[in-house]
Amino acid sequence: MTHCPESTTPTLTSRHVSLQDVIGLLEGATSATVLCHVQPDADTIGSGLALGIVLERKGIPVQVSFATPDRLPVSMSGLPGRHLLVPAEDVAESVDLLVTVDCGSAGRLGALASRLGGARRSLVIDHHRSNTRYGMFDLIDDSAEATTAVLARLFDLWNVEIDADLAHCLYAGLVTDTGSFRWVQPGTHTLAERLLGTGIDGAAIARTLLDTHPFGWLPMLGAVLSSAVLVPEAAQGRGLVHAAIRCTDSAGLGSEEVESVVDIVRTTSEAEVAAVFKESAPGSWSVSLRSKETVDVAAVAERLGGGGHRFAAGYTVSGPVESAICALRETLG
Ligand code: AMP
Ligand code: MN
Ligand code: MN
Repeated sequence: MTHCPESTTPTLTSRHVSLQDVIGLLEGATSATVLCHVQPDADTIGSGLALGIVLERKGIPVQVSFATPDRLPVSMSGLPGRHLLVPAEDVAESVDLLVTVDCGSAGRLGALASRLGGARRSLVIDHHRSNTRYGMFDLIDDSAEATTAVLARLFDLWNVEIDADLAHCLYAGLVTDTGSFRWVQPGTHTLAERLLGTGIDGAAIARTLLDTHPFGWLPMLGAVLSSAVLVPEAAQGRGLVHAAIRCTDSAGLGSEEVESVVDIVRTTSEAEVAAVFKESAPGSWSVSLRSKETVDVAAVAERLGGGGHRFAAGYTVSGPVESAICALRETLG
C-alpha cells in the first residue's frame, strides 16, 4: 500500500516527501504535466521523458514540456519518449499533478511557472542544493549526481522495469551531469553498469550528447577562447578565468556549442573559478560558473540571483558584460 500525502493548498515551503510518498502521488494522479527547466540539458530532458514514459505506461495522460527555446536541442532529439513533448503554449492550464524535474527554482520554469498555480498538486524532483522548495511536495536529494539518478531509485522502489528506453533517458542525464563520469561517487558506476546492461549504446549516447558539433563550432571557439581573461588576484587570490560568447560569436550555432565552452575554460590551472558569459539576447547574459575545490559557486550564484551546485552554478544578468564581470568579482571577494 502506498501512502498518498494529502494537501491541496500551496505552501510557501514545500513538504519533503519520501520515495514511497512520491509513488503514491504519481499512482494517484488522474492527469500529469512534467516540466523541465529552460535552456534544457540532458538531465532535465532525460528525467522528464523517463517519467513521462512511465506515467504513460501506467495509463496516466501526461504532457512533458519546457518553456524555452521552442525546440528541443538537436543533440537530444534521439531520446525515447519525445512523442510526449508538447510546445509550451499547449501545456494544459490545469492538471491534477504537476511534476518538475531538475529545476531548482520556479524561475527556471520560465513562462511555464504559471502552470504551478493551476495544478491540484505539485511535486519537485531535483538534486540542486540551492532548490527553493517551490512546490507543494518535494523530493530533493542534493547528494545525487543527476536527477535521473533520483528517478532510477524511484523506479526501483516502484517496481518499474528499467528497459532500454528508460535506461537511455536515465543514462543521458547521468553521463552529462557527471561530466562523462568525472564527478562520480560510490554507486555512480553501479547505476551506469545497470543501465548499460539493458543493451543501450553508451558510447553513441555520449558522442551524440557531448561530442558532436558542426564545423562552425571551431571558429567560434577560436574567437571566444582567444579573448579569455585570467585574473589571478580574484577570488581572494585563488584566481578567476572568464570568457564571453556574444550573440555574434554564436550566430547559427546551437546551445550545445555554447554550453561546451565552459568545459574548456574551467580547465585553466591558474584559476579556481571559471565564468562564461553567454549572451542570450543583446545585453542579456546567462552565466556559467565552475569551481574546483575551495569556492562554493552555488552560494556565489545565489547571491547574484541564480543557483546550482557547489562546483557548477549559474545566474542571469543584463547590461554590459564589463559590469557583470565587476559584480562577479565583487561577489567572489
Ligand atoms: P550551466 O552552467 O548552465 O551548465 O548550469 C550549471 C548549474 O547551475 C546547473 O545545475 C543549473 O541548473 C544551474 N543554473 C544555471 N543557470 C541558472 C540560473 N539562471 N538560475 C539558477 N540556477 C542556474
Ligand atoms: Mn539541468
Ligand atoms: Mn541535473
